[in-house]
Amino acid sequence: LVVIDKVNKHFGDLHVLKDIDLSIDKGEVVILIGPSGSGKSTLCRTINRLETFESGSITIDGKTLPDEGKELADLRADVGMVFQSFNLFAHKTILENVTLGPIKVRKTPKAEADKRALELLDRVGVAHQKDKYPAQLSGGQQQRVAIARSLAMNPKVMLFDEPTSALDPEMVNEVLDVMVQLAKEGMTMIVVTHEMGFARKAADKVVFLADGEIVESNTPNEFFSNPTSARAKDFLSKIL
Ligand code: ATP
Ligand code: MG
Repeated sequence: LVVIDKVNKHFGDLHVLKDIDLSIDKGEVVILIGPSGSGKSTLCRTINRLETFESGSITIDGKTLPDEGKELADLRADVGMVFQSFNLFAHKTILENVTLGPIKVRKTPKAEADKRALELLDRVGVAHQKDKYPAQLSGGQQQRVAIARSLAMNPKVMLFDEPTSALDPEMVNEVLDVMVQLAKEGMTMIVVTHEMGFARKAADKVVFLADGEIVESNTPNEFFSNPTSARAKDFLSKIL
């Protein structure tokens, strides 16, 4: 579903993505892990073209990412993204946060968008908060709204960049549970996280990135029990 082929990107002199090759099948859940600064966020942002790249190609559902224009907007609408900071619209209610994209971008009639938004909010357990504003919700609740908002666009793939790292510990699981459920339902997901429990439960593949390169790519079991590279061993010794 997502094919990343020999992608290279620089920030000035810094070669931040080096010949990245990665294919993600429909329904597959891929965890990206690696040291700080290894390029995980940049790779996520490159996949939906929040960042440009110099060489290589990225194909989503058979369509190669264009540089700009309407096609890019269409493709981006197919790629949901959830960030560490929840990025909800502060002056819109929870319900409006979820319906805005479908109404504006997908041209969904309001009544239909409302109905679907309520279903999604119910699914992530915050439907009763629909008329509140983001600041009135806990971090975990806001992040679940952010997930519902992405899902409202019916994305083909969901990108998560450290979705739980800004949360208080007691709220981490309520967000991970939603993500595990989503994975079980067959959503294609790329997740940057250091939550090993989630990786073991939901991931099909763990991709270890260091200095902008994919150093290892393996099943969670193999990766965690038998990392082969010195860099992965060193990294795991620090986080496990
Ligand atoms: P972390 O685990 O800390 O989130 P990361 O793996 O997500 O790290 P990136 O944010 O992708 O790492 O950054 C990769 C490298 O690119 C870092 O060295 C970072 O300083 C650099 N970088 C990121 N964004 C920019 C930018 N807009 N301009 C210049 N350099 C950048
Ligand atoms: Mg990052």
